[in-house]
Amino acid sequence: MRRLALILFALAALAPALFADFGDGGDYSGGSSDGSSSSSSSDWGSSSSSSSDWGSSSSSDYGSSGGGSGEFTSEDAIWLGITVVVILVICGGSIISQSISARVRYKAAQAEQAAPAPDWAEPIRATDPNFSRVLFMDFANLVFVKYHEARGKQGKREMILPYLGKSLRQTVMNDSTSVDGVVVGGRAVKGAGYDSGGAFVTVIFRANVFEIVGGARTRTFVEQALTFAAPPNYQTPAPDKLMALGCPKCGSPEELALDGRCKSCGASADAEKGWQVIAAAQIKREVKGPEQRRIGHFNRGLDKPTIFDGNLGAALRELHARDTAFSLEAFRRRAEHIFRELQEGWAARDVARLRPHLTDGLFNSVRFALTRNDDLRLQYVCADINIYKFEVARIEHDAFYDAITVRMFCTMVDYALDAQGELFKGDNKSKRDYSEYWTFLRRSGVSGSHDAGKCPSCGAPLDKINMAGVCGYCNAKIVSGNFDWVLAQIDQDEEFRG
Ligand SMILES: [Zn+2]
Ligand SMILES: [Zn+2]
Repeated sequence: MRRLALILFALAALAPALFADFGDGGDYSGGSSDGSSSSSSSDWGSSSSSSSDWGSSSSSDYGSSGGGSGEFTSEDAIWLGITVVVILVICGGSIISQSISARVRYKAAQAEQAAPAPDWAEPIRATDPNFSRVLFMDFANLVFVKYHEARGKQGKREMILPYLGKSLRQTVMNDSTSVDGVVVGGRAVKGAGYDSGGAFVTVIFRANVFEIVGGARTRTFVEQALTFAAPPNYQTPAPDKLMALGCPKCGSPEELALDGRCKSCGASADAEKGWQVIAAAQIKREVKGPEQRRIGHFNRGLDKPTIFDGNLGAALRELHARDTAFSLEAFRRRAEHIFRELQEGWAARDVARLRPHLTDGLFNSVRFALTRNDDLRLQYVCADINIYKFEVARIEHDAFYDAITVRMFCTMVDYALDAQGELFKGDNKSKRDYSEYWTFLRRSGVSGSHDAGKCPSCGAPLDKINMAGVCGYCNAKIVSGNFDWVLAQIDQDEEFRG
């Protein structure tokens, strides 16, 4: 109880700061203002951008997808969400910067001056050695999405219940508002630790929640702090099991019976507690109108210095030691290929070009956003992509994943026309100059590099990748990071916290 009080106190204390912390902004993301001034204009950007249609974050369901089925229905595509990487702690640090010529320079002096990043996961790893920040944030995002989707279901689709503490479970059961889609635009850890009650992590989510109100679909921006807790000495399971959100005891993916028991093993929702949401605090809630016309390029944060992780130099050396075939240059080529495919595929509405390179969650958000654009009948134009700077900002490794976050700087022609051919977003007279932090993932233990234009499993062309990210030639799910780097998250300059 004392711990809960402390957590609530911490949340209350931090609430005012949150507004400053997350950019303001647009669509589903930003928070405080609706104005065009805030938009950074990236269409999938995390945050502030209005456009940020598919959200930086989003989800992925590596390994196993929420429903346990390998195939995506269009409904699943919208709902299955899991975030992907995360990166939360502000840190200063060493710099590894790679210019476009692939020259790598390392400023050791700066690395020495900066304190290493405080790693919020450390105290948890002391008793749960396989605890992975990347995986946990993915899981937290999935729970956040499922938690909202469980509202208004009146006894149906309540698989999420074992992952909610008692009072929240009751709240969800009594909530009569149905939710027709959740797009997470940003998330950040605001507190974590381990005490006599076990481990806890508080995550702030910013999302657009599509609620059905009086028969109409209404977009509501919410900013919410969820506190997850696990009992003392709990061992977080491996990705496939954790992300399946099945019965915490037997893993059954079946929905719970109405009394909250697992139909397979009979365990009650409380019997086998793993990670559960024990508190949900609303920080902000705003009903949003339809998307507004936004002319001009908005490059908020472009002039901000890159946030490099304090441990970057050592992390790169360790990555080279683990994967002797790793080449920063090959990684850069792959990352830039994915960058171009994403820009051009988005503008062309060609999801087949995006699918091979995005984790499930990010892909779901992108697809969701494209559907929205269909409603608006926007035509995107994207051309002359010039990636002029490529800076590795953070390298992370744990029991399950390697993650590399890169700040990419780019100029390009970027605008959208409405159904009448009038400029709706961006600027058709000047190029956009901007940067974003892109985070790529790979399963730990994978090594080497492959041609980004081919299946990383069998080398065949990428022309038979289905919507679940499975290659039609070799049947491998290539978007899980099991074979090569895939894009998991995009953060806007003003959002990235290191
Ligand atoms: Zn069970
Ligand atoms: Zn293949």
